[in-house]
Formats: sequence, C-alpha cells, structure tokens
Amino acid sequence: MLNIDEIQNGIVIDHIKAGTAVGLMELLGITQNTSASVALIQNARSAKSPTGRKDIIKVEGDASWLNLDVLAYLDPNITVTTIRDGQAVQKEKPRPPRRLVNIVRCRNPRCISSIEEECDQIFEMSSNGKYRCIYCEQELSVKPE
Ligand SMILES: [Zn+2]
Repeated sequence: MLNIDEIQNGIVIDHIKAGTAVGLMELLGITQNTSASVALIQNARSAKSPTGRKDIIKVEGDASWLNLDVLAYLDPNITVTTIRDGQAVQKEKPRPPRRLVNIVRCRNPRCISSIEEECDQIFEMSSNGKYRCIYCEQELSVKPE
C-alpha cells in the first residue's frame, strides 16, 4: 500500500521504474528547484512491478511547478497522487501531451534547435506514439539508466 502518512499536502509520484527516479527528478525540474521539499524512495517493494521494485518521489507543498508532462512519455505505469490534508484526493496516470515544448532538448547536434539559441525545443507525438523533434525528426530517447 501507498504510504503517504508523512505528507499532508503535496503529490506522490509512484510506480516509477526502479533505478530511474534520479534521472526523472532532473526532467521534472526537481534537481533545479532548491527550495522544494522532496523525498526520494528507491527500490521500494512493489507487487505490481515485474522486477518487484519501484521508486517513489514525494513532493511536499505546492507541486504546480513540476513538469508532469514528461512523466507520461517516460513511463506509462507512473501514477500521480494528489494529497490534501493527509488524504489522497486524486490519483491519475499522466496523459502524454501531443507536444512537448521546451521540456527536453533535441540530441541531434546538427539540428537547428541545437544550433540556434532562441529556437524553441518542440517535440510532437507521431502516429506510433513516439515523440519526434519537429525540425529534424530525431526520436526522443529517455536518458539511459
Ligand atoms: Zn531536432
């Protein structure tokens, strides 16, 4: 069962593939936000996970700054639970947005978005459910574990 006792208000990002939470924290903007109260639980036991392990991230207080759009493309199993006054008021799986704007950078060094500083980083979902850079068609890949 989800243990949310220590959070009164905030969100719990659960069912993260074990070993990927640290990389995820960077994409979510947690690493860059030095004032946020964040708990990271690595290798928690999970009956649902094929490996029997999962990572969990808990964010106390206002979580509206979190870049939750990235979750859906990273790992469709991730759930986000909103906690208010110690109660889980909402549990959802993030839906992948059609477009990711200035969330991730294109890895193609020859891409116009890598060369031009003021160029927006835009990825659009293609018919196979993968994101591609709108400038060079480079497929978005998740940070290696
Ligand atoms: Zn590109």
